[in-house]
Amino acid sequence: MPGLDAAAWVRTFATLIDEHAEELTALDAAVGDADHGTNMRRGMAAAVAALDDCAADSPADICKQTAMVLIRTIGGASGPLYGTFFLRFAGVIEKGSDTADFARAFRAGLDGVIARGKAELGDKTMVDALAPAADALDRSVTAAASGAQALDAAVVAAESGRDATTPLVARKGRASYLGERSAGHQDPGATSAALLVRAARESWR
Ligand SMILES: [Mg+2]
Repeated sequence: MPGLDAAAWVRTFATLIDEHAEELTALDAAVGDADHGTNMRRGMAAAVAALDDCAADSPADICKQTAMVLIRTIGGASGPLYGTFFLRFAGVIEKGSDTADFARAFRAGLDGVIARGKAELGDKTMVDALAPAADALDRSVTAAASGAQALDAAVVAAESGRDATTPLVARKGRASYLGERSAGHQDPGATSAALLVRAARESWR
């Protein structure tokens, strides 16, 4: 059955994070404490090492394991937020991994991030990439689009959401300490979250 290859998703996300680590850190240097790239790279390298070590093979187990590793390894806000995403995602994906399941699980992950971070759309956080992607997935499921089409639409939505964070004034996270001065900078969390969606597209089988 076509669908999500969860192990490939985690591995591809790790590769994309590695490729973009300097960019993520530079973005975080402008509005935060310049550690987003290094933190995410360390966390995702540990997640890949855990996959290499262990026999987790259902999508739910792989995502649960990844969540635990990220919570343990990434300091600051990103570990708990990405950990919560993967944990909530895992709770729903258990039943299968077709497009509709993926959309439901992705929505659950987003809801977890929103609950944990107390951020809303437009607060200049990872929610600004994840929420448009979740909406695009839901629309694709309603329209009976193929998995590939649904994931393509999710990538476009996540990347537009990421780009739309640039003029925003941050209302959550460390960037919010800058107030108005946070405007004019692309949000690092939305940038890594868009990579998470791209990684899902690239690991859709
Ligand atoms: Mg930081």
